[in-house]
Amino acid sequence: DAEWPRPGRCRIISVANQKGGVGKTTTSVNIAASLALHGARVLVVDLDPQGNASTALGVDHHADIPSIYDVLIEDTPLADIVVPAPEIPNLYCAPATLNLAGAEIELVSKVARESRLRRALDAYDTDGFDYVLIDCPPSLGLLTVNALVGGDELLIPIQCEYYALEGLGQLVRTVDLVKAHLNPEVNISTIVLTMYDARTRLAAQVAEDVRAHFGDIVLNTVIPRSVRVSEAPSYGQSVITYDPGSSGALAYSEAASEMAHRWVEAAQ
Ligand code: ADP
Ligand code: MG
Repeated sequence: DAEWPRPGRCRIISVANQKGGVGKTTTSVNIAASLALHGARVLVVDLDPQGNASTALGVDHHADIPSIYDVLIEDTPLADIVVPAPEIPNLYCAPATLNLAGAEIELVSKVARESRLRRALDAYDTDGFDYVLIDCPPSLGLLTVNALVGGDELLIPIQCEYYALEGLGQLVRTVDLVKAHLNPEVNISTIVLTMYDARTRLAAQVAEDVRAHFGDIVLNTVIPRSVRVSEAPSYGQSVITYDPGSSGALAYSEAASEMAHRWVEAAQ
C-alpha cells in the first residue's frame, strides 16, 4: 500500500459520542488499521469496559491481563500494557478489561482524576507513534473526560438516523468545559458519518443537516452500512484486513486518507 503523509508529531484523537452504537469502536479500529497499513505507527487506547476495540484488533482482554484500568487506577505505565495487534504491523493496542467499568467510580476519589490518562500518555513515549486513537465509552463520564484531557482532537462518529443531532449539544458543551478548565488544546477536528443507508431519504437529510451545522470538519467520505463491517470483529479483525475490497473497508480507508491528508494540507 502507498504511504500517506505522516503528521510530524503524534496526533492524539479521542473518538467520542455519548450515544452507544453509533460506530465509535468500528471507526477507531478501522481508521487505525488503515493508517497503520499506509505507513503510520498507531496506538489504539481502548477506554470502554466492553473491550470491543481490543476484541476487534484480535487482542486478548480477559479479566486478569494488565489493562488500561491499571494505568488509570494503579499508575501502571502504559508501556507495561501496550501490546501489538497481531494482524497488522505498526498497530498497537492498550486493552480494556471489564474492571474498567468500576473505574468511573474509583476515579472520583483519585488525585487529578480528569488527567490520569494525560499523565500516562505524557510519561509514555508517544513520539514513537504518529497517531493515538482513544475509543471512548458511550457516556460523558470521567473516562471520556480523561480522553478529552489526554488528547488534542476529537473525532465524532455520527450515525445518520433521526436522533443523530440530539445529544451532540451536550457533547459540544462538555468539550467546551474541558477546553476552558482542563485542556485548552482540545478541539473537534473531525466528524464522520457512519452506517449510511443510501436508500433512505432520512439518511441523506441527516447528512445534509450535519454538514450544514458543522461544515468542513465533516469528512467527504461517508461510511456505508455494510454487513462485512459488522462481521469483522468476530474474526478479531478490522474490515480492512477481513475484506479489503468491501464497501466498508474502502470507505474507512478513504476516510483515514482524508484525515491524514487534511492535516498536512492544514499545516502548509
Ligand atoms: P459504538 O462503539 O459507538 O457503541 P460500534 O462501533 O460498536 O458502536 O457499532 C455498533 C454496532 O454497529 C456494532 O455491532 C457494529 O459492528 C455495527 N456497525 C458499525 N458500523 C457499521 C457499518 N458501517 N455497517 C454495518 N454495521 C456497522
Ligand atoms: Mg464502542
